[in-house]
Amino acid sequence: MERLYAELKKVLRGRVRRSEPMWRHTSWRIGGPADILVEPASVADVEHTMQMAAARAVPVTVIGAGTNVLVLDGGIRGVVLKIGYGMAALEINGLRITCGAGLKLGRLAHAACAAGISGLEFACGIPGSVGGAVVMNAGAAGGQMSQVVEWVRVFQPGEGLKVLAGGELGFAYRYSALQQSRAVVLEVGLGGRPGDSESIRQQMQQNLAGRLAQQPLEWPNAGSVFKNPPGRAAGQLIEAAGLKGYTIGGAQISSRHANFIINLGQARAADVLALIELARAEVKRKFDVELVCEVRILGEA
Ligand SMILES: Cc1cc2nc3c(=O)[nH]c(=O)nc-3n(C[C@H](O)[C@H](O)[C@H](O)COP(=O)(O)OP(=O)(O)OC[C@H]3O[C@@H](n4cnc5c(N)ncnc54)[C@H](O)[C@@H]3O)c2cc1C
Repeated sequence: MERLYAELKKVLRGRVRRSEPMWRHTSWRIGGPADILVEPASVADVEHTMQMAAARAVPVTVIGAGTNVLVLDGGIRGVVLKIGYGMAALEINGLRITCGAGLKLGRLAHAACAAGISGLEFACGIPGSVGGAVVMNAGAAGGQMSQVVEWVRVFQPGEGLKVLAGGELGFAYRYSALQQSRAVVLEVGLGGRPGDSESIRQQMQQNLAGRLAQQPLEWPNAGSVFKNPPGRAAGQLIEAAGLKGYTIGGAQISSRHANFIINLGQARAADVLALIELARAEVKRKFDVELVCEVRILGEA
């Protein structure tokens, strides 16, 4: 690991850190150390990192803004590649937008609004990067990424750089086939409809106000922990199971929104996992419904 770290530091333009606590890189503010954390400044940095790690058989884990991940307390072995500020370029051409995967989704939504491009209003208030949003097919207020993504440029281990059309991404509810692949999303092409900036802005403000009213945003969290089962709301099932406000260690099932687990300050991933298991078991026992995690669990206990 020391040799790889030294090599990466020498070759990359972006930041490279050793034994980096992952709680600094997740919205839950939870997670043990990554052996090496790379924040690439360019596509070339990503290519070099992937190739140098592969040459030493070191695993690579990709994250964006860390708003939908639970990093376990033992941290992540190998390299964590964080696609963020160094890959956040944005270009608008008519109704087409091209952006780096590290661009914040909120910035994308505001840029689309300013340019009079409708279709991304739903994204206002969803934290995270555009790359993470594509991988998760993030959505809200009746919209989701699958409706606006036209193509993605990825680095595919063993194949190199390639472009995939939106139709090849296997989008479904909070799912894309990218979740099963080792592809790193580098750049995203999106398309919208002509719209009026003022109406778009009003719709975005309305979406944001709804979120502020419902979500416990004053505490570190990762948004909805579980996917909604068909025809049901996961939060309502957890609430009906009597778990609102239930606390284990430093983690709590939010009393404001039962599909959110909040970090009261000193939560460990083990506390969050225990609440996840409890919610799953109680909802299964009381309503015979299997809850499926939306958040992605990374690293080792
Ligand atoms: C307060 C709050 C509210 C939220 N509300 C919503 C909501 O309304 N709707 C919704 O859908 N989600 C919501 N989320 C969840 C989250 O914001 C989204 O899933 C977001 O799109 C994740 O983006 P990210 O960059 O943080 O991804 P991360 O959490 O960093 O990663 C998520 C997954 O994507 C992969 N990944 C990330 N970037 C890349 C890349 N460039 N290449 C390859 N793989 C990558 C990671 O490996 C991981 O599996 C919310 C979260 C919070 C904290």
